[in-house]
Amino acid sequence: MGESMDNCVFCKIVRGEIPATVVFQDELTLAFMDIGSVNPGHMLVAAKPHVENLQGMDEALACAMFRSAARAARAIESACAPAGISVYQANGVAAGQTVFHAHIHVLPRWENDGLTFTWPVKNPPREELEKVAAQLRTAL
Ligand code: 5GP
Ligand code: ZN
Repeated sequence: MGESMDNCVFCKIVRGEIPATVVFQDELTLAFMDIGSVNPGHMLVAAKPHVENLQGMDEALACAMFRSAARAARAIESACAPAGISVYQANGVAAGQTVFHAHIHVLPRWENDGLTFTWPVKNPPREELEKVAAQLRTAL
């Protein structure tokens, strides 16, 4: 975490210092194949500037990242004809982030492809939702 741009693996890919299989790029983003692909066609959309996570993206970068994720999804749809497409984006160790340079996974999905994700629904009462929503509105 807080890794300098000198040591950051995705900064090195953006600078062309280590090899990567690039699919497309624009001014603010680079889309390349995930070296640990979960399914064939698994792409990463990385920010070109070094920002650690989603919270670190300014408006222009956030827009560019999701524009590129949509572009990657359309390419996956055409080229791989998957049964589905998942988008995954981790921020922080607890969220499963391992490379601390912001990126979005866009990956083709198939029935029973082994990727599992548990979703422990809590169904809190409305008052709890209202309470945390008020805190969030204040924080905007
Ligand atoms: P996350 O931080 O979202 O958990 O995962 C980082 C992703 O980056 C992993 O899926 C991993 O396979 C991928 N990755 C790590 N190092 C490299 C690399 O040097 N090249 C490429 N193409 N992908 C990488
Ligand atoms: Zn970086």
